[in-house]
Amino acid sequence: MSGGITAGAGDIVTGGDTVTRGDTATGEAGAAGGGVLLEVRGLVAGYGAVPVLHEVDLTIPTGTITAVLGANGAGKTTLLRALSGLIRPTAGRIRFDGAELRDARVEHLVRRGLAHVPEGRGVVAELTVDENLRLGGLWRRDRQDARRALAEVYDLFEPLARRRRHAGHQLSGGERQMLALGRALVARPRLLLLDEPSLGLAPRVTAQIMALLGRLRDGTGLTVLLVEQNVRGALAVADQGVVMSLGRVVAAAGAARLRDDEELRHAYLGF
Ligand code: ATP
Repeated sequence: MSGGITAGAGDIVTGGDTVTRGDTATGEAGAAGGGVLLEVRGLVAGYGAVPVLHEVDLTIPTGTITAVLGANGAGKTTLLRALSGLIRPTAGRIRFDGAELRDARVEHLVRRGLAHVPEGRGVVAELTVDENLRLGGLWRRDRQDARRALAEVYDLFEPLARRRRHAGHQLSGGERQMLALGRALVARPRLLLLDEPSLGLAPRVTAQIMALLGRLRDGTGLTVLLVEQNVRGALAVADQGVVMSLGRVVAAAGAARLRDDEELRHAYLGF
């Protein structure tokens, strides 16, 4: 496996070599005991003829949060784009819930339960909070459940409920992030791809969003792939972390291990 990882709770993978760090991890994903939701093997993707991702391997257990960490330009955003069908991989496999989805169209991926909240949030500034949220459930056939999901999002994000008639451009940064997240949740995703949700937010709001992700995982079994520059915040809630560098996964480990192992932190996370 070149540059590959299996983000088992105690395995550290560096440049393709697995070093077991002596804890109880089995290397099997399984915080929730629900098997593997997403399996990526040998993924190559980029822009035009220039590859950015080089044979990325990733195993995401159902009902867990995986933090994708790494310096600017490491390829984190590109990985999320390739997974959500926004850019076409040129090689490799993406298995989602057992089905091969590498060449699937974005709409198909959304219907299968994949939601992508891009960096910059993608809220429609001219539409109201309510209209933005309804966009998230527009394609759903089960109208009754779409309405229920909308009500649940208002329960989760009380500021959105108070501002449901406000336009997107009238919201604060934190509220816009909630709205982007809420719109994704209205679709009842099974896998949420989140790109830098803390960008530009106050630490308190960031902490609230991280805590919410933990509650959604624990309460609904949501699986999250979380790209974050805020390494400490991400590792506080994540089950495992993968570190990317120059388009490759260079390390993967249980989040507690990445947090607590000074040697690892110095080598891969720079603190
Ligand atoms: P950041 O935190 O800065 O967003 P990242 O880890 O998410 O970093 P990417 O945005 O995936 O990194 O970028 C990886 C590489 O791909 C970089 O070298 C970047 O210049 C290049 N890249 C990103 N977007 C494009 C694009 N639209 N066209 C061409 N190259 C791109």
